[in-house]
Amino acid sequence: MAEERIYETDIVVVGAGNAAMCAAISARENGATVMVLEKAPETAKGGNSTFTHGSIRFAYNGIADLKQIMTDLTEEDLAMTDFGAYPEEEFFEDMCRMTEYRTDPELASLLTNKSFETMKWLVAHKIRFVPIYGRQAFKVDGKFKFWGGMIAEAAGGGPGLVEALHKEASRLGVQVLFDAMATELIHDDDGVHGVIFKHKGKTTKVHAKAVILASGGFHANTEMRTKYLGPKWDLAHTRGSRYNTGEGIQMALKASALAAGNWSGCHAVGGDRFLPDFSEGFQKLSFPFGIMINADGQRFVDEGADFRNYTYAKIGKVILEQPGQFAWQVFDQKVTHLLRDEYRGRKVTKVKADTLEELAEKLEGVDKEGFIKTVQEFNESVRRDIPFNPNIRDGRATVGLAVPKSNWANPLEQGPFEAYAVTCGITFTFGGLKINTNGEVQDVLYHSIPGLYAAGELVGGLFYFNYPGGAGLMAGSVFGKIAGENASRFIQQLKETEKLV
Ligand SMILES: Cc1cc2nc3c(=O)[nH]c(=O)nc-3n(C[C@H](O)[C@H](O)[C@H](O)COP(=O)(O)OP(=O)(O)OC[C@H]3O[C@@H](n4cnc5c(N)ncnc54)[C@H](O)[C@@H]3O)c2cc1C
Repeated sequence: MAEERIYETDIVVVGAGNAAMCAAISARENGATVMVLEKAPETAKGGNSTFTHGSIRFAYNGIADLKQIMTDLTEEDLAMTDFGAYPEEEFFEDMCRMTEYRTDPELASLLTNKSFETMKWLVAHKIRFVPIYGRQAFKVDGKFKFWGGMIAEAAGGGPGLVEALHKEASRLGVQVLFDAMATELIHDDDGVHGVIFKHKGKTTKVHAKAVILASGGFHANTEMRTKYLGPKWDLAHTRGSRYNTGEGIQMALKASALAAGNWSGCHAVGGDRFLPDFSEGFQKLSFPFGIMINADGQRFVDEGADFRNYTYAKIGKVILEQPGQFAWQVFDQKVTHLLRDEYRGRKVTKVKADTLEELAEKLEGVDKEGFIKTVQEFNESVRRDIPFNPNIRDGRATVGLAVPKSNWANPLEQGPFEAYAVTCGITFTFGGLKINTNGEVQDVLYHSIPGLYAAGELVGGLFYFNYPGGAGLMAGSVFGKIAGENASRFIQQLKETEKLV
C-alpha cells in the first residue's frame, strides 16, 4: 500500500479564487508558510473570480486617488472623463440601501473603509486596474461620465486578475495544490489544526496552525440551492464555477461554526435563455433602456428602478418567478446603440422585426395580444417631456401603470425592434459563516474558533436580497487580506507561547 502523504504548513488556505489568493499573499507577506488547496484542476483555477469581468468597487475621493490605482491613466483619459467621486460614506450607504439595511454594519464598514487601502495593496502586488469605459460610462456631449459607483476593472478581466494573483503568490513562495478538495477540518477543543482533503482522489492530510476558508458559496450545488434558496432554484441556470458546492461552509458548520446572513438569498441575473451552465452566463444587463415582458406579455418589474449595477443582481429571482422561468427584453431602435457588448455574438437568443406586430409573432412562448396591449399602455404612460439621459437617473418615468418604470422610459415606436430572451442565471449565494472583524470564524456561542478564518463568498452577513456590482471581488480582497494578517499574527503568538513553554 502506498504510504500516506501528510503535509505540514503554518496556514492552509482552502480555495484558489480572489479571496483565497489575497489571503495567501497576505499571510505569506506576514511571515507564515502557506499552502493553498484548490479543488479544481489547474486548467480551471480561480473559481467564480475567473468568470468575472474583474470589475471592482472601491471608495475614492477624486482623480488623485484614482491615479494611485489606475497607474496607466493618461492626461487624455482624464480630459475626456468625468470619474466623479465615490466617498466611503456613499459606498456604505449603498451597502445599506441595497440590502434593505440588513448588512452587518461592522463588516460593511470594514469593507468600505478598507476598500481604497486594499486596492493600493493589490497594486503594490502587481495587480493592474483600468477604467471600465465600455460598460460603466456613456459618452454624452463628448465626455464619458461614470455612474453607479464603479469605475475600474482588473486588466485582463477575471482571468487577468486570477493569473496575476497566482503569479504573485508563487513569487512569494505560496504552494498551491490543485485537484485538492478539502472535505473536513481537523479540530478539537483547542481549535482547528489542519484539513483533510482528497488529492487526485486520495485522502490526504495537512497539519497547520491555522486554516483560512475561502472556497466560495453553494450556488453550484443543486440540493443546497433548493434546500436554502427554495422551490424553483433547482431550475436556475448556473453561472460561473462548477466547484462552488459549499463544502467549506459545511465543514465549518460541523466544527460548530455559526451560520450567518441571507441563506435564502443569492445574486442572480437575467442571462441568455439558453445559457450553458458553468459559463460566464451571457448576462443581459441593458434592460433599464427597454421593457421586460413574460409569457403573458405582461411587464413584471420596474426595469428602470436604478442604475443597472444596483438592480441586476436581483432581477434573476424575479425572472425565475415568471411562468416558464423566462422573459424577453424588448428595445426600440432609439436605444439599441446603447446595448452592451453581450447583446452581440452567436450565443444570443434574439429576434428582430420592423413592426411590433411582426415582433409579437417572433416572441416564442409569449401571448401576442397581451404583448401588444402592454406596449400600447406603456407607450401612452411615458413622460415624454423629460429628456432621456443614460448617464443619470433621468426621471423619465411612466405615469399610472401598475408596474411603473422610474427612469429611462422610452416609448417603443421606432422599428426595427429587437428582443432578447432571458432566464435566471445564479451567480453566487449570500448565506455563509459568521466572522468577526479579524476574519475569525465565530462558533455558535459567539466565540472565535481558534485557528479558523474565512473570506470571500462563504462569509455571511454582507449581502441580503441584492448587491452593488463589483462588491464581491472587493469583499474577497478586503477580508482575504485581513484573514491572512490575523492568521499570521495568531501563529506568531502561538510560536511565542511555545518558545516560552
Ligand atoms: C459570471 C460572473 C461574473 C461576475 N462578475 C463580477 C465582477 O465583475 N465583479 C465582482 O466583484 N464580482 C463578480 N462576480 C462575483 C464574484 O465572482 C465573486 O463574488 C468572487 O469572485 C468570489 O470570490 P471567492 O474567492 O470567494 O470565490 P471563488 O472565486 O469562487 O473561489 C472559490 C474557490 O474555492 C474552490 N473550492 C470550492 N470548494 C472547494 C473545496 N472543497 N476544496 C478546495 N477548493 C474548493 C473553487 O474551486 C474556487 O476556485 C461574478 C461572478 C460570476 C459567476
